[in-house]
Amino acid sequence: MATRTESQGRCSLCGASFSKRQIARHLSECAYPEGRNVAAVVQLRVDAPGTPFWLDVDVKANAPLRDLDDFLRNIWLECCGHLSSFEVGSTSYVVLMDDDFFGPARDERSMNARVSASLPPEGSLFAYEYDYGSTTHLRLKVVAHRMAPSRRESVRLLARNDDPVWTCTECEKTATALCAYCFQEGDAFFCEAHAGEHNCGEEAITPVVNSPRMGVCGYTGGV
Ligand SMILES: [Zn+2]
Ligand SMILES: [Zn+2]
Ligand SMILES: [Zn+2]
Ligand SMILES: [Zn+2]
Repeated sequence: MATRTESQGRCSLCGASFSKRQIARHLSECAYPEGRNVAAVVQLRVDAPGTPFWLDVDVKANAPLRDLDDFLRNIWLECCGHLSSFEVGSTSYVVLMDDDFFGPARDERSMNARVSASLPPEGSLFAYEYDYGSTTHLRLKVVAHRMAPSRRESVRLLARNDDPVWTCTECEKTATALCAYCFQEGDAFFCEAHAGEHNCGEEAITPVVNSPRMGVCGYTGGV
């Protein structure tokens, strides 16, 4: 997927624009102003490998992993309530079902586990999967353990990639939609006019959204 704005993003706190690479340094000051830091948090970089989509967030160390799952679903993923899991080393963190007679499988734990007790050390990677059928794979990196200003929510958005600009496959105008069927095979972006003329029919056309779930399972954007 090639775009013109791949590596630029915006600080959610002050609105300033930075490259994906430079924004970490900015956040270390903007998000953690001296003298105001009272809550233990874990700062994360979330990537959707092979796409231009990324997020910087921090999550309270004493929050359950479930809160991070909720956050990712709300901003990027939720289409119809699929299962999801975090993969940390050989351990899977999932939402355990009450009626699971045999109990959790080996190496499976509940997403009720606290962030501080489940995430790997600073500098380490772990993974997240949403939907075991048409899976969206995310790669997460523990950037740093920090103290942050107090706030109510468990997960705070620090930065996000700018809306990628896609061009219509037929005419080079900015695309507003894509074909979910053709998208699996390659670029299938369309302007409004060409989306209407596309062979696969109306039901295959989904909107361009700022999410790695774009074009999958009828996803139409975050809440
Ligand atoms: Zn900032
Ligand atoms: Zn779905
Ligand atoms: Zn067009
Ligand atoms: Zn198509």
